[in-house]
Amino acid sequence: MAIANRLVSAVQALVRILYWTLKRPRYIVLMGGPGAGKGTLATRISTALKLEHLSMGDLLRREKSSGSPLGKEVAGYVDTGQLVPDELAMRLLDSELSKWRYRNGAIFDGFPRRISQAKLLDEFLTRLRTEISQVIYLDISQEDLIERLAFRRTCSNPECGRSYHLKFEPPKEPGRCDECHSQLYQRPDDNADVIADRLAVFQQQTLPLLDYYGKVVLTFNSTNQSTSLSVFNAVMAALKAT
Ligand code: AMP
Repeated sequence: MAIANRLVSAVQALVRILYWTLKRPRYIVLMGGPGAGKGTLATRISTALKLEHLSMGDLLRREKSSGSPLGKEVAGYVDTGQLVPDELAMRLLDSELSKWRYRNGAIFDGFPRRISQAKLLDEFLTRLRTEISQVIYLDISQEDLIERLAFRRTCSNPECGRSYHLKFEPPKEPGRCDECHSQLYQRPDDNADVIADRLAVFQQQTLPLLDYYGKVVLTFNSTNQSTSLSVFNAVMAALKAT
């Protein structure tokens, strides 16, 4: 079985290398504090650039709701706003990225979230003879992030996971997702106690990535008055210019 799996991986790697001689993949990292609007922006960019949206938070929540042993292991971290160990996150990322739908590259939403993960991602991409092309950073004040998270409601369907802001971008029908009509809920990590911990994790562990990535970072200032469309337009204009 192990030999068969290795053979399949080798064939997949070969097909990918052949495909990449025709079309270079593109990998973009999207950074921002919890509630900054990364998911909404990534969905729009993914459609515009035909790149897959890889949300580490969504992968972890899907794993958690599947009830698998890995899902049980990650639940304690996700519900309390702590980062899951790098080895677990990399395992999920590795198996996700090897899927054929990622052949054109990906927009990483919520990964990497600390320097050790950025190094592992670089090693991983170097093995595939590719690299991160741009890093988009959504810069939003802590006060605005807190307000966004407190009013955020998320689709309970793990395959959808769309989020809404009850004040600024509410669903058309209260409590129901516009996309799939599933019920909306408040994520357990969007409550006031956990929000404080997530903001601290972001400040201490994720923000240093801006220095790590240096010149490839494109920063966008945003407030709760900015619409998701205006942020998207600014990001697309900058991506086209670089
Ligand atoms: P998000 O949906 O991006 O807000 O992520 C929700 C939670 O998933 C985080 O608070 C962490 O517990 C976990 N998580 C997401 N991305 C990562 C990552 N790159 N490394 C470790 N844990 C992560």
